[in-house]
Amino acid sequence: MGEGARGLGRSSPHSPASRYNILMPTADPLSLSYALAQDAQDELAAFRAEFAPLEPGLLYLDGNSLGRMPIRAIQQVRNALVDEWGTQLVRAWGTDWWDAPRRVGEALAPLLGAAPNQVRVADSTSINLYKLADAACAAQATASRRVLLTDALNFPSDLYILQGIAQARDLELRLLPDDSTDPTQTILDALTPEVCLVSLSLVTFKSGYLYDAAAITARAHAVGALVLWDVCHAVGAVDIQLDAWQADLAVGCTYKYLNAGPGAPAFLYVRADLQSRLTSPIQGWWGTSAPFAFDLTYTPAEGINRFLVGSAPILSIKPLEASLEIFQRAGMPRILRKSAAQTAYLIALIDHFLAPLGVEVVTPRSPQRRGSHVSIRHPQAYPLSQALIAEMNLLPDFREPDQIRLAVTPLYTSYADLFEAVQRIAQALRENRAQNYSAERKSIT
Ligand SMILES: *Cc1c(COP(=O)(O)O)cnc(C)c1O
Repeated sequence: MGEGARGLGRSSPHSPASRYNILMPTADPLSLSYALAQDAQDELAAFRAEFAPLEPGLLYLDGNSLGRMPIRAIQQVRNALVDEWGTQLVRAWGTDWWDAPRRVGEALAPLLGAAPNQVRVADSTSINLYKLADAACAAQATASRRVLLTDALNFPSDLYILQGIAQARDLELRLLPDDSTDPTQTILDALTPEVCLVSLSLVTFKSGYLYDAAAITARAHAVGALVLWDVCHAVGAVDIQLDAWQADLAVGCTYKYLNAGPGAPAFLYVRADLQSRLTSPIQGWWGTSAPFAFDLTYTPAEGINRFLVGSAPILSIKPLEASLEIFQRAGMPRILRKSAAQTAYLIALIDHFLAPLGVEVVTPRSPQRRGSHVSIRHPQAYPLSQALIAEMNLLPDFREPDQIRLAVTPLYTSYADLFEAVQRIAQALRENRAQNYSAERKSIT
């Protein structure tokens, strides 16, 4: 990799690429000129400029952990501080703020394939998962239906919460091991009439495996179970069709592919016809039909609002609203096309440049079975990830025990970014940069 290519991180995706357009039909797919040609015809290329610029030369492939900041968010948060809080004071609850969980939930619903009145923005993913999983168990468990089903690919916070619910409700948590080569089939086989709820991450956080949600949902219903999808690693990057799948419940966060910022509120989905059957285990005032009646007893609101708890985090909802406007303009079909093309491209680059250096692709190769990040495995993955961050100006992330995740975030990831990132990883491996870093883990990886 020459210095010219290294400079790519600095330049706009358009300028150098136009020079290479002419090479496009014949460019070797493993060449930089191919990446530049792809960028030149990328229908989403202009959206890159809507995100806060990176330090010169920095490559960011960790948008599945914390998405980049939409520049529009600055103005929205500033307005909320200065014009709303600073000026309107408490009156702002009556104008813009009170309605935010509904308004922003409805803006998010199309990204989930959800018709109106089924999605609300609230709380964290962990808390929403608790509310919906507990409500589902209360409604669905019977003397002979006492199993909560999940697998070891699920996010640990989800597992901990399911463990707590199983304990409190005296149910059995059935945790399938993560050694299956076909996790969808393994779940299908485990869906028996003993199961009251199956709860899975639609895209698994380590390997990026994507379940066949339609098949699992159909099978769950056939045996009398409800399904709860955690779409944290999917929303904004994969095709989600909750209504068409007839999914029962879903939760997800907004700070990963949705770029809403650290600690931004999460969301929940409850299918319309289920809402009156389920009640939240956290009976807060925002979940009642008339919060300002200040009744002394709790009466859940009709519909989806019953799953709200307390005051909405207005300052953190604003960046989400700004970000969703970008998604609306970009359109999920274009984002999905680019994600599929870029993850395929990244896998091809890894196979060619990194496999000879001992790197293995963990993420499924079938586009139907993968999300929008590619995980690679290497025995030195942890010290290597430290070297990439400290010396190679590349930000991926590491997941135990031996994986590095490289996220494709179609709104701002270019083909040249992916090409350059793979070159930097190859260089770090060739020069054994990992040897300078301890295998001892820092507290945040
Ligand atoms: C990121 C992630 C979470 C995070 O939950 P928080 O409550 O926002 O910390 C939960 N589940 C999955 C599957 C995730 O990927």
